[in-house]
Amino acid sequence: MTHAVPHQPEDAIPVVLVIDDCVDVHRLLSVRLGSEAIELVSAHSGEEGLTRAGEVLPSLILLDLDMPGIDGFEVLRRVKDDAAISEIPVIVLSGMQSPHDKVTAFDLGAVDFVGKPFDMAELRARVRSALRLHSLMRMLAQRAQIDGLTGLWNRSYFEERWTNEAKRARRHDHPLSLAVLDLDSFKQVNDSYGHPAGDAVLQGLSRVLKREIRGSDVACRYGGEEFALIMPDTTPEAARALCDRVRAMFEGMNWPRHPGRNVTFSCGVAGASVGVPVDAPDWLEIADANLYAAKRGGRNRVIATDLTPEDPGLRKAG
Ligand code: GH3
Ligand code: MG
Ligand code: MG
Repeated sequence: MTHAVPHQPEDAIPVVLVIDDCVDVHRLLSVRLGSEAIELVSAHSGEEGLTRAGEVLPSLILLDLDMPGIDGFEVLRRVKDDAAISEIPVIVLSGMQSPHDKVTAFDLGAVDFVGKPFDMAELRARVRSALRLHSLMRMLAQRAQIDGLTGLWNRSYFEERWTNEAKRARRHDHPLSLAVLDLDSFKQVNDSYGHPAGDAVLQGLSRVLKREIRGSDVACRYGGEEFALIMPDTTPEAARALCDRVRAMFEGMNWPRHPGRNVTFSCGVAGASVGVPVDAPDWLEIADANLYAAKRGGRNRVIATDLTPEDPGLRKAG
């Protein structure tokens, strides 16, 4: 996969967060898990553990139950209630091991329960097993959001990511731009040269997009022959320039299945240089309206709207 993944790269060393009030446990684990390909992060209370979990987004949590302050059960409850960290697997590591404690831990969402004192070889095996499962789940979740033909993010990922980027831009008062692209007279390409030729064009455009955008930009296949490009920290003018560069490049491409028949796209852009009080769905409508204006205007062009308010005082209104 050549595009950026949303969270950690697949081959990053997994981070394991240990939440335990007992210093000896941290010492023991750091010595005895030292040979594993993992990075250990320590938290000495439930409160600290929850904070660290949100900060480092570990691949696994090892959680003690009996702690002063917020106990392990409550930590587990809060982890599972917080969408940002609820997918992180939790292995309970505890001296409390009555059947009732175990049942409660599993019911709250723990993936495993290891009693103290623990056998190191067994704990290592259980850590490896939980990490394997987590990485598989992440890969599946990610695959469900990737378009099979082009390798770009699909529409469901776009919706989720767009909402988040719009919120983020507004919160931090950052620039943000959105582009929608639609191939011109694409039905003709399919009708004249066949569906596989059309597929090759869709793949060709995806390759150009992946190559030309920044790592922080997000290219999505929105629908059949429609694409969407989320450009965080990008002013509408910069977004327009980028889309126009891609447009020119794409127009110049040669297609082995139909040499001499170029393909073009039309593009609508909506963007703002500051976090403007416009709802995320409205941006899509504005970009879409620009796309149709580009079609009506003769196709193979980019039309952009700058939503930045003239009066910066308006920025925080709404
Ligand atoms: P316009 O310039 O107005 O956008 O015209 P158009 O022909 O591109 O638009 P229209 O909506 O009439 O046709 C879109 C075509 O895109 C029809 C459909 O068969 C084709 N298409 C959609 N998805 C795929 C795909 O996955 N592969 C191929 N080969 N064609 C596709
Ligand atoms: Mg089209
Ligand atoms: Mg279309």
